Amino acid sequence: MTGDRNRGWTRRQALQSMALAGAAAAWSPRSLAQDRRIGVALVGLGGYAKGLLAPALQLTKHCRLAGLVTGSPDKLPEWQGKYGVPDRNVYSYEDFHRIADNPDIDAVYIVTPNHLHKAHALIAAAAGKHVWCEKPMAMDAAEGEAMVKACRDHKVQLTVGYRMQHEPNTRRFMAMATERPFGRIIKLRADAGWFGWRNGADEAWRLDPARGGGAMYDMGVYCVNAARYSTGMEPVAVQAWDETVRRELFKGVDETMRFRLEFPEDIVAECVTSFGRNLNTLQVDCERGWYTMSPFQGYDGNGGRASDGTVFEPQLGEKPRMQAEQMDQDALAILEQRAPRVPGEEGVRDLRVLDAVFASAKADGKRVEIAQA
Ligand code: NAD
Repeated sequence: MTGDRNRGWTRRQALQSMALAGAAAAWSPRSLAQDRRIGVALVGLGGYAKGLLAPALQLTKHCRLAGLVTGSPDKLPEWQGKYGVPDRNVYSYEDFHRIADNPDIDAVYIVTPNHLHKAHALIAAAAGKHVWCEKPMAMDAAEGEAMVKACRDHKVQLTVGYRMQHEPNTRRFMAMATERPFGRIIKLRADAGWFGWRNGADEAWRLDPARGGGAMYDMGVYCVNAARYSTGMEPVAVQAWDETVRRELFKGVDETMRFRLEFPEDIVAECVTSFGRNLNTLQVDCERGWYTMSPFQGYDGNGGRASDGTVFEPQLGEKPRMQAEQMDQDALAILEQRAPRVPGEEGVRDLRVLDAVFASAKADGKRVEIAQA
């Protein structure tokens, strides 16, 4: 067909057309993406930023560590020395809004404790910077919605640091939610936890209710997100039980939360999240078989198998390759001006579930319906 249509073209017309097509390709967002690196400022220079994100940024193709925002100036000599970040790109939380005037910085990656995510996202959005925000996106769905709105109003992207959604085996599980290779999904199990604070802890924000502490915020979001991406559906109701054991350590926050999510089609997800047990398993039971990943939310080594003998070998290599892949994908979404893989709305959907989990646990496992968009 194409050949027939072009048969009447003169050689000059054809050459002109090729030149135009070449110029268009040269200027397409896609080819721009090959050349440019997104300047990223890390907000909060704690464990995750230092141990995983900063090293991962060195492995990316489309990002560079361009800025630092911290309340601890004593950390700066080491960070600036190691990553060559100039003084003009260093901010405190108080003068962080001045980032608006800094053309070196395109995106701000929020890696502070959970209670600060919303405030930091709103500052970054108002400064016209794209917002990458760690999980859980905020303290509740209302905060998350405010972040989505601010980013929409300021025309910047908002993406949540759900690194697993960039991991190939996880993406395979996401595809199976619609492909249904073993028929109808009947039941899921998603358990995520780690044994923490063997020797107590004085100033840990993960133990502080005011700063978004507790296992549910920290690890429970992996269960909720996995249950949602493995079914491709939104849960409608939940029952939750706070099974905290070390009450002297966990005051006003959950050490262990068990919860049961009801999905459409009578699908049920049984989940446990904990700071008192090492847990890392996702299992999907279907009419004619099953598939499982364990670990399913590790920094590396995520893999599993299926009842038909399929083996899901770990992908992406060792940590922090997953974080590099995540940030490259998020950078490409900015450069190519398209929606990111994990938009802010995805974080809000999980927070709606968390809101209902906390309400149910408070009412000793009463069935609570989950707000829908
Ligand atoms: P962290 O305690 O190691 O670091 C937090 C940083 O925030 C520190 O630099 C601290 O100085 C700073 N900070 C600013 N205000 C603070 C306050 N009021 N109280 C305490 N610290 C304050 O924590 P982290 O493990 O790096 O976690 C940070 C964020 O990253 C959290 O939202 C967490 O859920 C997320 N995280 C995500 C992953 C993942 O795999 N995606 C892994 C770890 C942490």
